[in-house]
Amino acid sequence: MNTTIVNVGYRSTNFWVVSAGRSRILVDLGWPGMLGALVANLNRKDIPLEEIGYGLATHYHIDHAGCAQELKQRGMRLIVTPEQVEAIPAMKRWTKPTDHYVDIVADGNLILPITESRSFLANLGIAGEIVHTPGHSNGSISLVLDNGAAFTGDLTMESMAEERDADVVAESWQQLRNCGVTTIYGGHGPVRPLN
Ligand SMILES: [Zn+2]
Repeated sequence: MNTTIVNVGYRSTNFWVVSAGRSRILVDLGWPGMLGALVANLNRKDIPLEEIGYGLATHYHIDHAGCAQELKQRGMRLIVTPEQVEAIPAMKRWTKPTDHYVDIVADGNLILPITESRSFLANLGIAGEIVHTPGHSNGSISLVLDNGAAFTGDLTMESMAEERDADVVAESWQQLRNCGVTTIYGGHGPVRPLN
């Protein structure tokens, strides 16, 4: 089945709906307290919220996973890789009460080892895998599709990496190249080729 990619982002962060028919994953999960803006964008793109069966955050920073718990309350299953678990409790430290962030609880989360991600995605009709791509944060992951698309979140561009992170960042990009990635769907800014 054809995999489609739709951007439902707002406020300078891209949020991507990856679909195989009505089988859908949301990649990056909204700003805290702004579920309404996300739902409005889904409606505008004719994607019913109840069809978002799963959600995956590239990393647990507030502009990428801010609505995760509210989306769970609306029926989405949150996929968490073991690499990501540790970063989740820290989310609330980066929010003010006025952000209306709802704390992400472990209850209901699906812990998915990345080695099992390919078969999990295949069951949804999506050809691809989750790759651990540290560099911006230790727990950052990318969703890589076999069609060459990769959702990389905030993985630092190699030219922008600080010296202390340069090796880790370069290794993450090399992993993505090894997976056959050609097109980057980043957390911010336009879609771009990987060269
Ligand atoms: Zn970040």
